[in-house]
Amino acid sequence: MEDGILHAIVFDGEAVLTLAHASQTAEEATRLLDLSEGVSCALGRLICAAAMLAQRNKNESEKLTLIVSGGGAAGKLLVTADNTGRVKACADQPQATLPSQKIDIPALVGINGDLTVVRDNPLGTEPYVGMCKLVKGDITRDFAAYLVTSEQQPAAVALDCGRKDGVLTCGGMMILPLPGCRRETLDRIEKKITETDDLLARFHAHLTPEEMALDLFWDVGVKPLETVPLCYRCDCSRQRFERGLISLGKTELLSLAYEGQDTEIRCRFCNKTYHFSPEELKNMAKEL
Ligand SMILES: [Zn+2]
Repeated sequence: MEDGILHAIVFDGEAVLTLAHASQTAEEATRLLDLSEGVSCALGRLICAAAMLAQRNKNESEKLTLIVSGGGAAGKLLVTADNTGRVKACADQPQATLPSQKIDIPALVGINGDLTVVRDNPLGTEPYVGMCKLVKGDITRDFAAYLVTSEQQPAAVALDCGRKDGVLTCGGMMILPLPGCRRETLDRIEKKITETDDLLARFHAHLTPEEMALDLFWDVGVKPLETVPLCYRCDCSRQRFERGLISLGKTELLSLAYEGQDTEIRCRFCNKTYHFSPEELKNMAKEL
């Protein structure tokens, strides 16, 4: 199944479903960032959550960043996404493992901290920041808690990511009740999420997110809408890092230049390195 985010109306118009398949995206993050298996699984879940939430952004230029900082071995995890399905991610400790060698996401993420959502403001004013204390450290329940407490949006969430026979599978779904959704439907939504404990096997068994949604929700009324592609895309560039260097100011630039070596900057979202020679740094300083 190709990566993508499906939108659908479910429960006979009483709720909306967002279903994200992100296996190739999570695999690309794992390759680029050289992630340990546990961090790969944790970051995969966060990629799905961010990709689904960014679907609610109004404009293509608007970025949404989801940060989980729980004090665990993986350190801070961060994913940025937009509503066209482009995501990029990074982890403070990409190689983190546990002494037990088990894939234990709450242990890797930790529980002493927050889940933060930062939404770019396209008008250039202060970004919108929402925050919620971590409740489980498994990302799934933390993300659901964030939606309820910080966005006042009741939501049923499932996220999973795991490797089996060498193949990484990653996906998630989010069901949001629409205004007027009946109490009994809320219970049925919760039941549906609880029953779907085999999310990864279901992604394997279907060819498209639409096919999977039809199979999963056939008994409660499902109307698939559009599917948005999903992919890993780092938008770093030499110009962007050059701007970063210039923002250090003249004194700092000259002091770097007089160290006599190339200044190397590594992009934390794709590990690509950019080199700036002392000569280039002096030229940047000259223009300030
Ligand atoms: Zn990059």
